[in-house]
Amino acid sequence: MDEELRCIGCGAVLQSQDENEAGFLPASALNKALEGENQEVYCKRCFRLRHYSEIMPVELNNDDFLRLLNSLSDKKALIVNVVDLFDFNNSLIPSLKRFVGNNDFILVGNKVDLFPLNSKESKIKDWMRQEANRMGLYPKDIFLISAAKKRNLQDLIAYLDRVSQDQDVYFVGTTNVGKSTLINSIIDLMGDVKDLITTSRFPGTTLDQIKIPLDSGHYLVDTPGIMTDKQLASYLNSKDLDLIAPKKPLKPATYQLNSGQTLFLGGLGRIDFVSGEKTSFTVYTARGLYVHRTKTENADEFYEKHVGDLLTPPHGDENLPAMKGQTYHPTTKSDLLFGGIGFITVPAGVVVKTYLPGGIGQGIRRALI
Ligand code: GDP
Repeated sequence: MDEELRCIGCGAVLQSQDENEAGFLPASALNKALEGENQEVYCKRCFRLRHYSEIMPVELNNDDFLRLLNSLSDKKALIVNVVDLFDFNNSLIPSLKRFVGNNDFILVGNKVDLFPLNSKESKIKDWMRQEANRMGLYPKDIFLISAAKKRNLQDLIAYLDRVSQDQDVYFVGTTNVGKSTLINSIIDLMGDVKDLITTSRFPGTTLDQIKIPLDSGHYLVDTPGIMTDKQLASYLNSKDLDLIAPKKPLKPATYQLNSGQTLFLGGLGRIDFVSGEKTSFTVYTARGLYVHRTKTENADEFYEKHVGDLLTPPHGDENLPAMKGQTYHPTTKSDLLFGGIGFITVPAGVVVKTYLPGGIGQGIRRALI
């Protein structure tokens, strides 16, 4: 039994069952601690943070997250929702709107390094603001950054420095948006992080938070990533995830299409050109994703037959939800979104239908380019 031995860093109950949950410690170390002499132990995550300044992601379900947000509602804090620009609709946290009423809230769009080189940052921000507003969220500010490439981080850090003079700053996000990478980069750029953990005990709480003390006496707080089943990532193995994750700025690939034709994005996405004059569709995806053109009238059958062999990823037997379609009638040049995969730019006046497994990550925006 794990009794009630807690990590002296984050306060999570120590456990050795699940490496992805809060308070994980390998069984051998946990048993030693339970047997007695040294009960002052850190969970693996805090240990790594302490010794390597590295934040390991921990996952949290929605209930835990709501409890965490509730605990914030009676204090003054800045909430930073880190989102993945390539899976924006799935990484914006809708339940935030119930809690940010009293608090300030900003959006940090990560992975901007993947946008085509000629995209306009102001257009990306406009789109983010519109989508957030549609969900009842009114961010005070929006930052576009690359946590991995450390791009635009100085602006964000200067902002955080200013607002954290009189309040704590909470980072929230769904898993895989790059929140850990961001916090690690911030720690890295801030320099000295000794004694990070010893000052951040949380007796009596099971919420696993990492508090980074600032000179102002306030904290940057990393909260666990929220799991969601609305991300392709939860259905793909790591090899396929790697294939669809772009590594470099996306380059356009143009396809001349007639209505009645379909493009498959591997076995993960599909767009039907339902009606309109012959025109070009511009595909922005990772190069590892095979794009296949076929006739719409054969597309259902073709998919059934070839998903997992010709149409890859997925490779093999991932339990993907069935493809779900949605029809769009863009009145301006628009990007059809395939969350986590990329987007396809189409001209005004066409009718198209896009498909994704379970409809996850579908959307449209005014073309960025
Ligand atoms: P977390 O679950 O939110 O903590 O996400 P991670 O920090 O573990 O990052 C998730 C994935 O996104 C990893 O594969 C990272 O390499 C990748 N990633 C993080 N930041 C960036 C970025 O700025 N640009 C790109 N291209 N990828 C990033």
